[in-house]
Amino acid sequence: MNDIKSKILVVEDEESIRRFITLNLSAVGYEVEEAENGEKALAVLGRFRPDVTVLDLMLPGISGFEVCKRIREMMPETFVIMLTAKGQDTDKILGLELGADDYMVKPFNPFELIARIKAMLRRRTHFQVDRRVVLQSGYLCLDLVAHKFFKKGVEIELTPTEFALLKMFMENQGKALKRNEILNAVWGENYFGDTKTLDVHIRRLREKIENNPSEPNHIKTVWGSGYRLQAAQDWSAT
Ligand code: CA
Repeated sequence: MNDIKSKILVVEDEESIRRFITLNLSAVGYEVEEAENGEKALAVLGRFRPDVTVLDLMLPGISGFEVCKRIREMMPETFVIMLTAKGQDTDKILGLELGADDYMVKPFNPFELIARIKAMLRRRTHFQVDRRVVLQSGYLCLDLVAHKFFKKGVEIELTPTEFALLKMFMENQGKALKRNEILNAVWGENYFGDTKTLDVHIRRLREKIENNPSEPNHIKTVWGSGYRLQAAQDWSAT
């Protein structure tokens, strides 16, 4: 997929910020649509089919959280990058738990936003040039062509970030991976965010792939360092 033709939906009620983001994204060649509130964003979504949605959390009417949840239900294949106000750490975590892929704290540098969008789109491009078709770890199976995930033969929907994360684990099975290594591989080189982003995504991924997320037998925590995927072979475990 060509970055240049990618579509970005900008959801932000403050006109000056919205215009600023749009101008910057248009300048590097993205096709941009704007929505000044959640209702409009949800109305535009199905028609515009954005590759990435830049979503402000503080919106009048339907909140950014609700919009994020609905986007995840309607279009699991789109990336969501949310905009939060400084010091709103709980917002950040809640947003990630509702399925956002990344966040930026206002005020932010537009070049950083563009860098993150590019990293997201690269994540998806990688899948399309990958020559391996299916990755397997015990009874977990990742179909790279159909972009589907199966656990014991049952399909489970993953967000693009969860998919990229699991793909990276499967390609490095049995290896202890440091948090920074994982962030660089999945979120892009020179990721500016903190490792909390990764921990929340791991938690969400565990909820989907583990039999018991609080006692994971696939994605193991490597204390003080990061995570390791190991192949769980016990098909009878529930
Ligand atoms: Ca706002």
